[in-house]
Amino acid sequence: MTAESPLDRARLPASTLLVARHARLRQRLDTLSLDALVVTCAPNIRYLSNHTGSAGVFVLTRDGAHLLVDFRYRDAVASLQRSSSACPDLVVRDVPASYDEALLECLGDLGASVVGFEAAHVPVATHGRWQRMAGARQVDVTFTATESIVEDARVVKDSFEIATLRDAAARLTGVARSALDAVRAGETEWAVAGTIDAAIRDAGYERPAFDTIVASGPNAARPHHHPGDRVLADGDLVVLDFGGVLNGYCCDLTRMASVGAPSSDARRLYDAVYDAHQAAIAAVRPGVESTAVDAAARSLLDSRGLGAAFGHSTGHGLGLDVHELPRIARARADAAGVRLEPGMVFTIEPGAYVPGVGGVRIEDDVLVTETGCDVLTAVPHGLCSR
Ligand code: ZN
Ligand code: ZN
Repeated sequence: MTAESPLDRARLPASTLLVARHARLRQRLDTLSLDALVVTCAPNIRYLSNHTGSAGVFVLTRDGAHLLVDFRYRDAVASLQRSSSACPDLVVRDVPASYDEALLECLGDLGASVVGFEAAHVPVATHGRWQRMAGARQVDVTFTATESIVEDARVVKDSFEIATLRDAAARLTGVARSALDAVRAGETEWAVAGTIDAAIRDAGYERPAFDTIVASGPNAARPHHHPGDRVLADGDLVVLDFGGVLNGYCCDLTRMASVGAPSSDARRLYDAVYDAHQAAIAAVRPGVESTAVDAAARSLLDSRGLGAAFGHSTGHGLGLDVHELPRIARARADAAGVRLEPGMVFTIEPGAYVPGVGGVRIEDDVLVTETGCDVLTAVPHGLCSR
């Protein structure tokens, strides 16, 4: 007998939600004068079709939808299409040998001539091959690079996504309790990370959303430290950063522990980051620029002399990817801020890192509402002393 895995019982959005997603995307096709969009990025394919396999190509046209899959996914897609989560108007096309050949054949059958592709997900070599294959087959197709068309649509979550993200974030409460319980002098970072990963599975997630971070003592000064064999000792600050994937959607939390009583320096560092975190959350509401939320956290840390110790952005979007739009960060030449809208979900995670000494990060997941925001993660704050 095989146990049912969380993935087997993963819930998917209803067909009606996919109809709305397609309609939004088609408006973009219209604006960009594209006959079709070739989607090759797996989370984007899932978003548009409910196909959860790791391979496949999705083609959205002005009036149709096509999914190219090989025999490994034939059964799964057939049963998806018999369910209430079926992709609307989907034509499933078999890939007998090569995805490239199947795609060119599909585009030829559709008579699509201006075809967008996802520039961030298609290697230059693949694009060149498609264009050459089209020429050899005398298929009149011009492939046009597009940028984050589907990613932009994913920024504002629909009802299924919000419910799923709420559930995912709520389940972190129990995981955080196990994580904090596992912190004690004499344990290795690795052992604490193992306890967290087990708690993530026990809470019903499909998998951790990313490699769990347990960073103790001086390692806490490295925002993306990989847990190792360092043994936790009295006086350490410990960064615990973890998340899970539920029905495809990611949540992300960071809490801090102190091994033994924290020093007054550690407490000052914690208090500054906590105040920055609260200032950023207080700034979240519709109409505000994402850069202003970042600035709220940054100016608070600046005022405590910790501006230089906060070297990363304040937050990132959450959804089918653990890092997605919107960026909650300073404006960059290549990435402006966005105006916040109800339905956006992202993290607020300021930090302060002092090389050789340690660091603090506090992270929660928030949903922009009509009037402000809901904090989806309900884990108590405080420098938990173990
Ligand atoms: Zn995190
Ligand atoms: Zn994060």
